[in-house]
Amino acid sequence: MRSKLPQVGTTIFTVMSKMAHDEGAINLSQGYPGFGADPVLLDLVAHYTKSGYNQYAPMSGIPQFRQRMAEKILRCYGAEVNPDEEVTIVSGATEAIFSAITAVVHPGDEVVVLEPAYDSYEPAIQLAGGITIHVPLDSKDFSVDWERVKHAITYKTKLIVINTPHNPSGYVWAEQDMKQLSDLVRDRNIYVVSDEVYEHITFDQRPHLSLVGHPELRKKTFVCGSFGKTFHVTGWKIGYCIAPPELTKEFRKVHQFVTFSTVTPLQFALCDYLEKPERYESIPSFYEKKRDLFLQGLQKTDLILEPTQGSFFQTARYGHLSKIEDKELAERMTKELKVACIPVSAFYHDHQDDKIIRFCFAKEDQELEEALKRLDRLNELF
Ligand code: PMP
Ligand code: GLN
Repeated sequence: MRSKLPQVGTTIFTVMSKMAHDEGAINLSQGYPGFGADPVLLDLVAHYTKSGYNQYAPMSGIPQFRQRMAEKILRCYGAEVNPDEEVTIVSGATEAIFSAITAVVHPGDEVVVLEPAYDSYEPAIQLAGGITIHVPLDSKDFSVDWERVKHAITYKTKLIVINTPHNPSGYVWAEQDMKQLSDLVRDRNIYVVSDEVYEHITFDQRPHLSLVGHPELRKKTFVCGSFGKTFHVTGWKIGYCIAPPELTKEFRKVHQFVTFSTVTPLQFALCDYLEKPERYESIPSFYEKKRDLFLQGLQKTDLILEPTQGSFFQTARYGHLSKIEDKELAERMTKELKVACIPVSAFYHDHQDDKIIRFCFAKEDQELEEALKRLDRLNELF
């Protein structure tokens, strides 16, 4: 059969998690929490499953959950959204991103993707017949190089995919980035997919700036989010898409034939759970302690580190120590030191290797401490 995605293999997250498992290594590769969710949330799910909330939910999400999301968006980002026409509950941010891209991209349209980039964007663009235009982020701090973005825009550009806080670098957009993007898309027929799955994981008092909170940008943007990241339940695959009514209308046409609707008892449970904002407002300080613990430990190695601004990932540079390929380093680290990480070259379409690895620090402190102890021997790999 002629493959529609000939260059796609098994994702690096699956590969490294399997290797970690097979090698009995501490898995700091694939991004998922190593601890459980709040028992209150788990009890709510048990309650709703046992009370008979087990049939199809409405296609766009249960109304009270969409209403709760509208309240949350007003509280967090000062934006009023219409719960019926602008909020859709979906089966994870991956689905939100796929449905948004599919809804707007026609064959031959160009889509700007900033690299390094999360791996689900490009296959979705390709399946829609679009052409991905890769624009590198700044090689030093992963900020957006707006001059390069401007040069990448043509009359064929239909969409820009952005991600803040950014996976894998942790870069968090500043006001300046919002202004640059709004200047760029003003008076042009360009839409934006804004991947904001780490919206509640930012550090050092840095606010997350959602595109829904920007009066101009929100008119052209699909904001994609995930409850998996916020509430330590990545296996639930439940997320949302916020977009203006005319975009939501097209988004739902796709969503209803990708999954139709999303797990009913999870929607009721999360709706109740979101009643107390402190449940998501406490997340930054929870993760900041982990970032600091992990970073302080890593600083004892010879790796070059910049404190991550957001997300639960910390990147580290080793090019001054060795010429070893990042994939090989990740493999040897997993097999010889029993600590797994992700080679950042996997986030580039051409596997550009800048000698950077990514660690996930969403783990119990004890596990992080044990990983750090093992990384004491890191220089043996160079
Ligand atoms: N975007 C980014 C940047 C991610 O890291 C992830 C990770 N899991 C996703 C999207 C997908 O989120 P979900 O699991 O809700 O589909
Ligand atoms: N987003 C996670 C990461 O970056 C992985 C999710 C997945 O494996 N699909 O590690």
